[in-house]
Amino acid sequence: MIYFDNASTTKISQLGLDTYNEISKNCYYNCSSLHKGGLNANKQLQQARETILNSINGQFNDTLIFCSGATEANNMAVFGLAKKGARILTSMGEHPSIYNTFKMTKNNVVDFVPLAENGQVDITKFQELINENNYDFISIMLVNNETGAINDIAKLVEIAKSKNEKTIFHSDCVQAYGKIDVLVDNLGVDAISISSHKINGPKGIGALYVKNGLHLNPITFGGGQEWGLRSGTENLPAIVSFAVVAEDKVKNIKANYEKVKHIKERIIEIFSQNNFDYKINGDVNGSPYILSISLKGVKGEVLLHKLEIDDILIGTGSACSSKSSDNRILNSMGNTKDEIMGNIRLSFGVDNTINEAELVANKIIEHCNYLRNI
Ligand code: PMP
Repeated sequence: MIYFDNASTTKISQLGLDTYNEISKNCYYNCSSLHKGGLNANKQLQQARETILNSINGQFNDTLIFCSGATEANNMAVFGLAKKGARILTSMGEHPSIYNTFKMTKNNVVDFVPLAENGQVDITKFQELINENNYDFISIMLVNNETGAINDIAKLVEIAKSKNEKTIFHSDCVQAYGKIDVLVDNLGVDAISISSHKINGPKGIGALYVKNGLHLNPITFGGGQEWGLRSGTENLPAIVSFAVVAEDKVKNIKANYEKVKHIKERIIEIFSQNNFDYKINGDVNGSPYILSISLKGVKGEVLLHKLEIDDILIGTGSACSSKSSDNRILNSMGNTKDEIMGNIRLSFGVDNTINEAELVANKIIEHCNYLRNI
């Protein structure tokens, strides 16, 4: 089987699985217990926290809260960092865990900045909104999960903070962490969300980073774990496994980047050599981990199922509906209804090979030729 749907989730690595099993078997204690088992568990928890903080250039006194994944981390950021009644800003390209949360906030004035054709936040529109308004909280993702477009977060932070230095800037770094540099000092952000299962770690674990000194209101209440910011018994096997996998990913970030880049480039090369009619959604220079394309005269979902018969698993960014508005992200980039219907997303991981890239590219051409002729 060829798995080209790594942006939706990844297979846990051997390292991640071994670590998960080891902690589950030998350090199953509650991190809050006062006996030696609990103390050991708590030590492992704090080590994992330090490992992740180090991997993003965080400071020892910054806050890193473990939670069930980036959906929860994003919810915590919006509900916990945006003041009641404040004006808040996000983009049309965000994951639903940000976009829908912004739509849901009852006590805020919410603005959405559109995307440019290349999938990045439209920087001119962003500047205009910043000039016109005072934002208390802004959330813009680093890498878009559908197109791989990379936002210049450092620049957006600079624009926002030059107007109001108190603006809290959060970034959803799920599709960036462990793949391209996510260094909070370089980005200039106040908070970020990350998730383990996108980088060959276990599912159901993620974290919210919050810069030292910022006040976060909790959204869960209970036993007071994670400084009372996220109550609930810590998922230690997943936390330690996440940290070990993340450390390994960050250590190998350049080599993995190059490997995946060749895979993406090889697919594009095969398309060009065959004069294949397709359109890249987003920027060719976006994340090499994601390739979003639109195919004229072909429904993305039909192609997905054709490839499935060949044991090739891919994704489609478009909802299976004829309404173009159903894909908010591609829509905001100015794609037509047909381009949205004809969209597929190939997303790569370190386990993929050039052979797989060649096979998939040729199969896509073959199926499209067939589908376009019937
Ligand atoms: N943000 C982005 C950009 C994502 O791609 C995802 C996963 N699809 C999430 C947030 C949510 O992450 P999780 O699955 O850990 O809740």
